[in-house]
Amino acid sequence: MMPGSLPVNQNIEILENGKTIRDIIDSKIKELDSAENQQPFFVANLDCVLKAHLRWTKNLPRVKPFYAVKCNDKPTVVSMLSALGTGFDCASKGEIQLALSLGVTPDKIIYANPTKPSYHIKYAASQGVDTMTFDNEEELLKISSLHAQAKLVLRIAVDHSKSLKKLNLKFGATLSSAGKLLERAAQLGLQVIGVSFHVGCLCTDSLTFKRAIADSRHVFDMAKSLGFKMSLLDIGGGFTGTDLINESLDEFFPSESGVRIIAEPGRYFVESAFTLAVNVIAKKTVMNETEENCDNTESGPDRTMEYYINDGVFGSISSVLNFPDVKIEPYLHRVKSDAVGSSELKYKSVIWGPTCDCIDKVLENYWIPELRVGDWLLMDNAGAYTLSICSDFNNFERALIYFSASADTYNRFMRSHNQFYAHNVKDDDALKNNAKYNYHISGLFSKL
Ligand code: PLP
Repeated sequence: MMPGSLPVNQNIEILENGKTIRDIIDSKIKELDSAENQQPFFVANLDCVLKAHLRWTKNLPRVKPFYAVKCNDKPTVVSMLSALGTGFDCASKGEIQLALSLGVTPDKIIYANPTKPSYHIKYAASQGVDTMTFDNEEELLKISSLHAQAKLVLRIAVDHSKSLKKLNLKFGATLSSAGKLLERAAQLGLQVIGVSFHVGCLCTDSLTFKRAIADSRHVFDMAKSLGFKMSLLDIGGGFTGTDLINESLDEFFPSESGVRIIAEPGRYFVESAFTLAVNVIAKKTVMNETEENCDNTESGPDRTMEYYINDGVFGSISSVLNFPDVKIEPYLHRVKSDAVGSSELKYKSVIWGPTCDCIDKVLENYWIPELRVGDWLLMDNAGAYTLSICSDFNNFERALIYFSASADTYNRFMRSHNQFYAHNVKDDDALKNNAKYNYHISGLFSKL
């Protein structure tokens, strides 16, 4: 693929004249229903990504975000964040290729996977992607033979007890082994420029960040005594809030230390930007036979409803397996004329995905009014670890994706890319007019 070209053509629908995300969802459902092609689909609001970025720069001014591509690798998302000036955390050759193909420069990439296939390291070296993480001696040996000029970042294991995904079970050198690893790196003549950690996904306790930053300080001091001049601290991902982080950075890595601080947020940037729409493709009524099951006389005591929808845990809803503690709450899409009062009888319901595997269960013990085959359900906050984890199991179609943005967000891109704009677009007014409608951005966002 040519650098700077999008692998797929993307459209962005401009939200204007009072048009909302909900209106776009309504019209897509209408379109799919009338074509009798009820595929699952996402609607993304790029305004949410922009807002997240503005919030980040306001709240964590010292920390440069390197967006974790694994979280949602749609080219439009990556291009947009690139336009906003973020760097990128890539975990594989494929993610590096994607970022480079969208015009991201190698210096804005950290190859943040402590255990890399040798040929991926070779590829990174060939592209000038030099900054990469490690947490073990074998990795140091591989890197010394495949990319001796690499700028290494030692990933340390930190407390993840307050996080929903415990990444430190798999990655991170213990503090007690850090010294030995640094000594080995020195023997091999490798440069170790910093420390990284990840507190685990969905970390709910900012004290965890404080402790991890203090641990990093300890490793910096250890490295200094071994002759390394470390200059980079990478505070990873897992962000749900930012309190205490600035304070801890100022305490352990004050501005005067000259240490550059980056982070690898994933979910933070994209989760709220996407809504998923799925269709009920089949249903069963299972009559309850035991008394035990008849415990709720008010709300459908005698039956359990089982629904089958057109997306599931092998598709866009893998979060059920990955993040079992995160509640998902699909709700019925109703067109405005369809409103029903709140007194509707609720039934205990199970929602299954479409595949033939019985682990493809999206929800159980879910009390909702009876659904019809053909109904649409919506799920908000569906942008993180959904699209990027999707498989083709049973060959069900992957969800379609529709992007939208307010004219303000859209124009902001345009402004921030005047140079490209002036270079590549001859008729300025025509472009502005186009932006008002369904503006085709192939090749434009790629340069953003
Ligand atoms: N960095 C690394 C190395 C990761 O493994 C992950 C997630 O698995 C992230 C960043 C992004 O984490 P989050 O989406 O929780 O911010």
